[in-house]
Amino acid sequence: MDSTASVPQGVIPVQLLKGQKALVTGANSGIGKATAIGLGRAGADVVVNYVAGRDAAEEVVEEITSFGVRAAAYEADVSQEDQVTAMTDRMVQEFGTIDILVANAGLQRDARFTEMTLEQWQKVLDVNLTGQFLCAREAAKEFRRRGVVPEVSSSAGKIICMSSVHQLIPWSGHVNYASSKGGVQMMMATLAQELAPYKIRVNAVAPGAIRTPINRSAWETPEAREDLLRLIPYKRIGDPQDISHAVVALASDLMDYVVGTTLYVDGGMTLFPGFATGG
Ligand code: NAD
Repeated sequence: MDSTASVPQGVIPVQLLKGQKALVTGANSGIGKATAIGLGRAGADVVVNYVAGRDAAEEVVEEITSFGVRAAAYEADVSQEDQVTAMTDRMVQEFGTIDILVANAGLQRDARFTEMTLEQWQKVLDVNLTGQFLCAREAAKEFRRRGVVPEVSSSAGKIICMSSVHQLIPWSGHVNYASSKGGVQMMMATLAQELAPYKIRVNAVAPGAIRTPINRSAWETPEAREDLLRLIPYKRIGDPQDISHAVVALASDLMDYVVGTTLYVDGGMTLFPGFATGG
């Protein structure tokens, strides 16, 4: 049975990220929205990036400011270099700096392999991989410029890449998406190695099946839900808050020695549940 109602609510310590400035891309929907709200609840000031849907972004800003922290909605397409640099420059100007980047924006353009167009392939790589590269590069420049401010955090900055269980699990009909997330895994690990000496922590969160608009068809009907639950040993579909909690924890100094790790938040999806009764 799917028991999403059992996600623990309100467990985020309110001062955990006090005084930190967080940028969340694709933050007006799904996981990005929940993450932006979670970071705000934990005391961070938050920039809510969006590419379309200003009203939804402003609603997220309103919810975050109700916690007594600052928030603002910035429009930018993460796959466009000039828009990303304009966004990070504006954040430094208006918020003073960037302490946390959650490179979350992503999309799917699904097709069987022989029918997949170059445009479908390229779009997914541009947003899911190049978008994370651009945002991470600009955030890392700011982290290196500023260095460690011990009263704020024991590291100079945190980058959290939103990956997927499909950085590990091959996914028929989604070669562009799975390749982009495989790329995110190696980009994250390489950046972690390169940036750790500057006290910059780079990690990834790899969600399993989370109930958001990106995968509506996988949970919308009872039949689809039943199929999906077969792949999840913990027997519930994830909630965006599950991911938000993981990101808040990873971004905090509680995780100061965690560098270059992918945290799977998937109810056990990557435990090869098909082998539970056979193999
Ligand atoms: P979603 O569709 O609700 O949110 C995606 C967000 O990214 C939206 O706000 C969208 O506008 C934004 N976006 C798309 N293209 C953009 C661009 N060019 N520039 C800026 N923003 C852009 O989906 P979600 O499930 O919340 O997905 C968020 C992330 O989580 C994605 O990287 C996705 O791959 C990853 N993920 C989701 C699941 C899941 O089950 N939902 C599982 C694994 C990984």
